[in-house]
Amino acid sequence: MPLASPFGGRPVSRSVDEDKMRQGTCAVLLLDSFDQFWNPTRDSWLEESDSMFDDQRSKKVILVLHCLLNQNARIDGCAYFPGAMGEAARAVVDSGVGILQMPCPELQCLGLDRSGRMRDGTDIGIREALLEGEGEKACRNLVAQVMDVVREYQKHRFQIIGVVGNDGSPACGVASTHYVDGERAGAGAFMKMLREELKRCGLDIPFVALRDHDWVERTTRVKALLETAAEA
Ligand code: SF4
Repeated sequence: MPLASPFGGRPVSRSVDEDKMRQGTCAVLLLDSFDQFWNPTRDSWLEESDSMFDDQRSKKVILVLHCLLNQNARIDGCAYFPGAMGEAARAVVDSGVGILQMPCPELQCLGLDRSGRMRDGTDIGIREALLEGEGEKACRNLVAQVMDVVREYQKHRFQIIGVVGNDGSPACGVASTHYVDGERAGAGAFMKMLREELKRCGLDIPFVALRDHDWVERTTRVKALLETAAEA
């Protein structure tokens, strides 16, 4: 009788001794039509079939900043769309790549009402707040969650085609970001950590950035990234 896969995948249809499995003496599960083995002690695949994930999916994924699809996460006064970010969001949806919507670091680490973050009467700035103390811990935790998913796709040889950020953002800026005293060159807190982690995993993927006051022109950069991925 078919058994449910322990990781939520296809059922196991070859004969497997359920008692042995429960007792932990069955080291591997043989999966029907797969030349591969699940090793419960290592929590990983030992070998992957060429036919795996051979369905309608593109096996291409793009990492996008949260507010590309949800402007409600924006800081007060900085939402430019009712919901998703217009043409840029449409371009990503229509491209056929999978969309990995990253968490909004500012919303999750500092809250929705995060304008004028004060500490002991001092405005330390949003970027700075994400790079020290509890803020940094929370931000690193979000990056770790994203990286868990990235590594999973990487393990199964999916293509991570790039990262979309937002220049000027204290968290999601790619080439420019807001410090407490204004905008300068540099990456936002979240993108900085994410780039470091991707590099640590040997992933050299392109980062592009939208920009609030320049989103029409910046959308062409996102489209160019998607077109390059489609040709690959
Ligand atoms: S922190 Fe990033 S995802 Fe959140 S609103 Fe700002 S730019 Fe968007």
